[in-house]
Amino acid sequence: MRFELYMFGERIADHVEHPIIRPAMNCVAATYELADQAKFPQYQAVMTATSHLTGKKINRFCHIHQSTEDLVSKSKMGRVLGAYTGSCFQRCVGMDALNALSMVTYDVDQKYGSEYNKRFLAYLRYVQDEDLVCDGAMTDAKGDRSRHPAEQADPDQYLHVAEEKSDGIVVRGCKMHQTGAVNSHEIICMPTRAMREEDKDYAISFALPSDTEGIIYIYGRQPCDTRKIESPNMDVGNVLYGGQECMVVFDDVFVPWERVFMYKEYDFAGDLVEKFAAYHRQSYACKSGIGDVLIGASQLIAEYQGTSRASHIKDKIIDMIQLNETMMSCSLACAYEGHREASGTYSVNTLRANVSKLNVTKFPYDIARLAQDIAGGIIVTMPSEKDLKHPAIGRHVAKYLKGVDGVAIESRVRVLRLIENLTVGAGAACYLPESMHGAGSPMAQKIMIGRQVDMERMKSSARRLCGIDS
Ligand code: SF4
Ligand code: FE
Repeated sequence: MRFELYMFGERIADHVEHPIIRPAMNCVAATYELADQAKFPQYQAVMTATSHLTGKKINRFCHIHQSTEDLVSKSKMGRVLGAYTGSCFQRCVGMDALNALSMVTYDVDQKYGSEYNKRFLAYLRYVQDEDLVCDGAMTDAKGDRSRHPAEQADPDQYLHVAEEKSDGIVVRGCKMHQTGAVNSHEIICMPTRAMREEDKDYAISFALPSDTEGIIYIYGRQPCDTRKIESPNMDVGNVLYGGQECMVVFDDVFVPWERVFMYKEYDFAGDLVEKFAAYHRQSYACKSGIGDVLIGASQLIAEYQGTSRASHIKDKIIDMIQLNETMMSCSLACAYEGHREASGTYSVNTLRANVSKLNVTKFPYDIARLAQDIAGGIIVTMPSEKDLKHPAIGRHVAKYLKGVDGVAIESRVRVLRLIENLTVGAGAACYLPESMHGAGSPMAQKIMIGRQVDMERMKSSARRLCGIDS
């Protein structure tokens, strides 16, 4: 693919071999690798599904959920891949966008007699047959947050229709924080919030090949990202994988009608946002997979440093496990309690999906805190790999970085670097702030929880037990 991509003020010609991009690309490659029956027969049930369109076996990331079992497998897939990569593997946003659109295009057609669902299903078939990676793009730049889209001084702060033509539309604006943007074949745009009639030019959804002319990618920075350029690269912590976010500018980009899935039906914009968000909040089972890596690293470093038998260390490890399994349990619960929507697609239990993600805005921080507690301050004060291997001073560094007998000094350093990566380094970008804001910030989940909870039932239980109601 030929992206117009910029990083550190330069146009990137070969993004495939770029040392900062490659680890993120390896992550997306893992979504294909683990679906390979010959290599990973044990993951077939979670990584693949049967297409409801063609009856063929497909990658689960391209699948429209047909049952609660599908939803449960989706949660498990997130954990497996999170543990395999120790990173955000970027492909869930597309899966969640496809599933949300499968429902909302159907509902819009029921109300307006439009043909969005037919268009969408033709597109879905293409995605499934080619096993494509789609990037679900929701978050707009938003400008002045106190103003609605149509009230902004700059109309481009929310992605909108700039021109309508006989064969399609021209769109302008920007999608922010786009996970996996240049590792995707397709980009699927959706509105970022509920819209009013005045905002109808902003109530649009469409899909395009990611390298369509006029789409400009500007690569986001992560803490310690330039360590990925270093060679040798022990200091990077996660030597195989990493995440990716871009600012994606739509500089007057043409979209043909057959790729438009919502056009000014502003009354459905909020619905599309909520349905996508519920799915994506479920997807954060990925963080339990990363948690597996961090808990494993914490246990290892305790063993390497001779603290693993201390009762307070054991207690901290158990606390980490409890937090991690609580996140996973909620993701599974919203899947097990999923339901069939009018289109036939299965959706998650919205209340529990939001509780799940609200936990994710907190627990990885608690787990990271415990990991740093167990590892020690050394994760942020340790000399570099080059010092460890320096012909003159290397022997000093090695001597004073030694832990228990029988453990290689390099093993201790590598695990410490992995903990650094996940809690303050490049990996922390997807383990911590992404847990806070990805799929919506905490308040977005609290609003949904407040809306979904059956308070009348709770009050009635209380009234009966204290004798107000007979
Ligand atoms: Fe998937 Fe998690 Fe990355 Fe979101 S943060 S795309 S849910 S791996
Ligand atoms: Fe995300």
